[in-house]
Amino acid sequence: MKKVTIEPGCITCGLCEFVAPDVFEVTDVSRVKDGADIEKNHDAVQEAVRSCPVQVIVCSEQKKK
Ligand code: SF4
Repeated sequence: MKKVTIEPGCITCGLCEFVAPDVFEVTDVSRVKDGADIEKNHDAVQEAVRSCPVQVIVCSEQKKK
């Protein structure tokens, strides 16, 4: 199970929403949409992590409870 978080420092460039619109939503800052399916959008999320100009998208492994 993967978890995506956005660290402080987003410059709202909108790139993450562009590459992974099912996961990210950029308004005043970027946020992960409620109920976003990270596994299904894994490749797009990785692309967003790589593309973010300020490197604030963090994708981490989360143990299932
Ligand atoms: S790509 Fe990074 S800086 Fe741009 S909106 Fe997304 S989180 Fe913010």
